[in-house]
Amino acid sequence: MIIWPSDYATAYTLAAAVERQGVGLHSGANCRVRLQPGRREGYWVGWLADPEEGLRRLEPSLVADTRLCTALRLGQRQLATVEHLLAALAGTGVSHAELWVEGGEIPLLDGSALPWVEAIAEAGLVPLGPRQLRSLPGPITCQQGESFAVALPSDQPRFSAAVEYPQAAIGRQVFSLTLTPEAFVAELAPARTFGFLEQVEQLRELGLIQGGALDNALVCDGDRWLNPPLRYADEPVRHKLLDLLGDLALVGLPQAQVFAYRGSHGLHTALAAALEPAPDQANPLPSVCP
Ligand SMILES: [Zn+2]
Repeated sequence: MIIWPSDYATAYTLAAAVERQGVGLHSGANCRVRLQPGRREGYWVGWLADPEEGLRRLEPSLVADTRLCTALRLGQRQLATVEHLLAALAGTGVSHAELWVEGGEIPLLDGSALPWVEAIAEAGLVPLGPRQLRSLPGPITCQQGESFAVALPSDQPRFSAAVEYPQAAIGRQVFSLTLTPEAFVAELAPARTFGFLEQVEQLRELGLIQGGALDNALVCDGDRWLNPPLRYADEPVRHKLLDLLGDLALVGLPQAQVFAYRGSHGLHTALAAALEPAPDQANPLPSVCP
């Protein structure tokens, strides 16, 4: 059993390579990821079939589609559903890693970050020295319709989310935690993706969620769940928080208090883009998302 770090004061990479494969949520095709130790800070993606193409650092400017998951455009290729794997890396304190992938998606596995946490535990962690989380010069806000996200400077990372759905099985939920690798593994990583029965057929007809199944997503039908039991009574809002962490991992973990109300991948990645340091350090971060 691995002992997870108690905070994010140390940079880590993996001690060994570890591989997982499984179905992609959207294509339904088999996808593979090999996680490898990284020498450079951040998360770097390469293609198993074309190693000579080298590695590309993930960043918010690569975001191509946020309708159902966070999909990135890497040159001529797309890499979808990166958020749960990135949440697992960022949440457990892995700051340097290489992701070698096959197929256009990260496997959905059980719809949570837990199988990725188990893969990271299997590989083990190697400390790389002291780490400074990205600090904020001031508050940053993002608004999209009735949804908003706020990031405020803070001594330690603290993440909160609220969701509000007309479906009685979910309704209003709020969840908040001071983020540490231990807290991430216990409180967020096991929370699974959820969807709504009425959307399932519609999305299938559009050629989406071909790999969605009752064993990799909670499906809500009004006032009930098609596939209980839930892992937490408030599993949906915890999953939103997991998604928020995974999307912000495109810029790394911020030293911030972050709150997202009715978050979405579109909102989260807009906040990630606003958190990215300007190339010209004389230009401070924007205080409002573009
Ligand atoms: Zn998710």
